[in-house]
Amino acid sequence: MSDAAILVRYGEIGLKGGNRPAFERRLAENLRTALKGMHGVSVDRLRGRLLIKGTDEISQLARSASKVFGVTSLSPATHCTSDAKALKKVAAEMVAITLERDFPGDGPVRFRTSVTRADKTFLPGSMEFARDLAGAIIPNQKRLKVDLKNPQLNLEADIRPEGAWIFAGRIPGPGGLPVGSLGRGLCLLSGGIDSPVAAWECMKRGMRVECISFYSHPFVGPQTREKIIRLAEHLSSWQPTTILHIVPFSEVQVAIRDNCPEEYRTVLYRRAMQRIASRVASRRKCKALITGESIGQVASQTLENLAVIEEASSMPVLRPLATSDKVDIIKQAKSIGTLETSNLPAPDCCTVFQPAAPIIHGKLVDALEAEASLDIQALTLEAVRGTERLRIPEDV
Ligand code: ATP
Ligand code: MG
Repeated sequence: MSDAAILVRYGEIGLKGGNRPAFERRLAENLRTALKGMHGVSVDRLRGRLLIKGTDEISQLARSASKVFGVTSLSPATHCTSDAKALKKVAAEMVAITLERDFPGDGPVRFRTSVTRADKTFLPGSMEFARDLAGAIIPNQKRLKVDLKNPQLNLEADIRPEGAWIFAGRIPGPGGLPVGSLGRGLCLLSGGIDSPVAAWECMKRGMRVECISFYSHPFVGPQTREKIIRLAEHLSSWQPTTILHIVPFSEVQVAIRDNCPEEYRTVLYRRAMQRIASRVASRRKCKALITGESIGQVASQTLENLAVIEEASSMPVLRPLATSDKVDIIKQAKSIGTLETSNLPAPDCCTVFQPAAPIIHGKLVDALEAEASLDIQALTLEAVRGTERLRIPEDV
């Protein structure tokens, strides 16, 4: 009898020594959450792998599981007894199904078999049994052409003491570490291309990422708010739930416009953001702020300005894109699914009262002097008090 399931492999977690069981448990839990809407799902630990079972379409389960951080690859697989005859039968069936599903037409398909044998009592040896398997499959499948180096279809048998797994192909996962295994961060999420990618990068390193967005209503319209919510929805496909904090920011901007030198406006907006975000982060037990800043990308992102901006934060500021080129960030935004939304036209609050000539090499003393006439404490508290908190996707 055979049984359909998904074998899940994880890489880096395996390196974590004594922490390994905790990481494995977290990954299993995140997989369960990602597959929550599906039927009859179970996730079990299985000697260095995880095993997903479920009654829904296996390709659908695989698609959702392949977006869980910590997963390096996965394979829909069939379990069967470690008996040569049974293995050959299951392997031949799987190749027939895979050919029909994944290789339409009647052209040649480069093919190989691979065997790993943790159960050394199983004979013959791996190489010999790989040849036996191929010998049982190829005569009935005229399209298959053996190519050991560059196969399009690799039929694998993993023979273990508890039975064997047969699978054809490995679906790549995102790698990284399971979300939640490294604490929480708060990402300053604008409607642009960079910040959602920055949030994604930190999730990939095991952080649970909350988002905070500064919203200057009525100077920017509701389409900006909508866009941010949609970006947070995209991010929620990579972690169970995304908490989004929306901060009313127009009063801060008006105060800066009315009281501070024009050339320092953008830097002062950013300092205000860091201050407010730090407050919200502490309340939410986030240990770091995250931004999409990239060195030299725009005037506010010179080393001098980054230093002046960061000084207003009370916690570490992570900038995963600090050294990335914009073209690469755009490619990545596309692959994680945020680019299209980021490209929707909707102004960011930073364009409100934008100075004609923003300061390029800002100085902290000048920024502090420029802020001296503001009631920073009151503005910060007021913004924090007015902040709206949404759970995405539940609250939208
Ligand atoms: P992005 O694609 O992230 O908007 P950008 O090139 O437009 O990048 P800037 O506008 O200079 O960059 O913003 C730098 C960073 O400041 C953003 O990546 C984001 O982390 C933060 N930021 C800017 N505007 C906002 C906002 N309205 N709300 C929250 N964070 C913001
Ligand atoms: Mg921006």
